[in-house]
Amino acid sequence: MARVVGGEHVTVESVTRPGAEIHDYEPTLTDVGKASGAQLVLDNGLGLEGWLGQFVASANVPHAVVSEGVPTVDIADQPGTPNPHTWMSPTNGQRYVDTIATALSDLDPEHAAQFRENGDRYKEQLDEVRTDLRERLDRVPANQRALLTCEGAFSYFARDAGLSEHYLWPVNSEQEAGPQELRSAIDTVRQNHVPAVFCESTVSDRQMQQVVEATAEVVRGSSDHSPRF
Ligand SMILES: [Zn+2]
Repeated sequence: MARVVGGEHVTVESVTRPGAEIHDYEPTLTDVGKASGAQLVLDNGLGLEGWLGQFVASANVPHAVVSEGVPTVDIADQPGTPNPHTWMSPTNGQRYVDTIATALSDLDPEHAAQFRENGDRYKEQLDEVRTDLRERLDRVPANQRALLTCEGAFSYFARDAGLSEHYLWPVNSEQEAGPQELRSAIDTVRQNHVPAVFCESTVSDRQMQQVVEATAEVVRGSSDHSPRF
């Protein structure tokens, strides 16, 4: 997002690599060194990067929280703790874009109009993403509009997409579903004939495989609704 909004006027680098598990990431000295040379650090906030406070202090660089102003929902079993995965919703993403444009404009006022323009164009694309998502999913039978994932990271996405949300554990720092969560996931797939389930590539999919095996046994032969994984 920062790259799109900043365009040719900024160089954007990510501390974590794509596909890295961000919650428990441990920044290296190289990361801190790289950040020390930056003029601005953007973080998601809401506790997603638990390591960031120390990181920003070590690097001694100003930072802006891009989730600022986004309405949050709490993590299911942790009242008072907001679910930090706010960027997964195109609607929220539009707020991120505004916050990023403001942060970059404070840094480089000369190009503020360009940042705003890039941001507005990107927000239109996010509108299209949300509309397309809704239109496609509205064609899926209502009971099957269920999203079953390993981590409960998709609350905001599910809301935008019109999906009911189910997961094995609330946040990836836990990575273990209890017998009740497992049972409830299996029931969800069975009752609704949910055709596909998902797990993030950064965590063990062992328990989701158990869900797939348990539900494949029930629906095998009776329909083509065995969940894909
Ligand atoms: Zn997560």
